[in-house]
Amino acid sequence: MPKRDWREIYEALTVGRSAITGLGLFAGTRIPARAKIGEFEGEVIGLREARRRARGQRIVAIVELERHALDATDTGRGFRFINHSCAPNTFIRCTPERAEFYALTDIAKGTELTADYGETQHNGKLRCRCGAATCRGAI
Ligand SMILES: [Zn+2]
Repeated sequence: MPKRDWREIYEALTVGRSAITGLGLFAGTRIPARAKIGEFEGEVIGLREARRRARGQRIVAIVELERHALDATDTGRGFRFINHSCAPNTFIRCTPERAEFYALTDIAKGTELTADYGETQHNGKLRCRCGAATCRGAI
């Protein structure tokens, strides 16, 4: 069986009401473990500009990479809608240029995708609502 192009998985993603908070990102097709799901899309901006834009925002759709950042605030789709979980089903691999998302486990169609945000501009001050048994309690 030929390996599926990740774009097929990415294009099938849907945005909907999340059980965790607000809107979330959902698998539109079955995603096998370790498969690439897609990449974070956004406006390419400098790191200083990214911090300026993030200041005081509760919801930030900005990913910082090595030398630049991606701002997905005006993007109506994609990983800006992925919610944090302390027990996520995807992981983020950052290269100097990109933030790529991969499946940690087999993910059934219709499942909400989650990622461990790691370090955020909230610095552990935002209460986590992921509901995982291993929840760290804050983001
Ligand atoms: Zn949590």
